[in-house]
Amino acid sequence: MLSENLVKAFNAQINAEMWSSNLYLSMSVYFAQNGYAGMAKWMRAQSKEELEHAYEMIDFVIKRGGNIEIGQVNVVPSAWGSPLEVFEHVYQHECHVSKLIDDLLDVAIKENDKAAQNFINGFVNEQVEEEDTAQAIVDRLKMLNGHNLVYIDDKLGERK
Ligand code: MG
Repeated sequence: MLSENLVKAFNAQINAEMWSSNLYLSMSVYFAQNGYAGMAKWMRAQSKEELEHAYEMIDFVIKRGGNIEIGQVNVVPSAWGSPLEVFEHVYQHECHVSKLIDDLLDVAIKENDKAAQNFINGFVNEQVEEEDTAQAIVDRLKMLNGHNLVYIDDKLGERK
């Protein structure tokens, strides 16, 4: 059974994952409305992935006898800039999420909950990939320097 502190921390992280999902959905809509079909598709997939993270955490908390409260999700921005600016925002956001996951792990360590630590470590690893992926897209967009955006839009549209 999860401790009260861990249940609280997990519920907060679940809300953060749902907010992330909405953030990427907002970016997806923005790209779709501005002719970047590939980036819109990439962001839609990213949005789904964040929701999957929330579901995984919800299932874990339920399995461990904790209570889940689906709370209000704060509003996300709806106006965005260039593709480079958007993906720089993605990178910054993923670094922020990494910090949140680290904090969640700290709670599990403090509560001496090995199963929770094990579970959260999967997300620690996931964040290494998330940061790397976002950084790689930022790097490519910088290399293109506003040129050949159709090329990178097509590339990002290949994401399943
Ligand atoms: Mg996530």
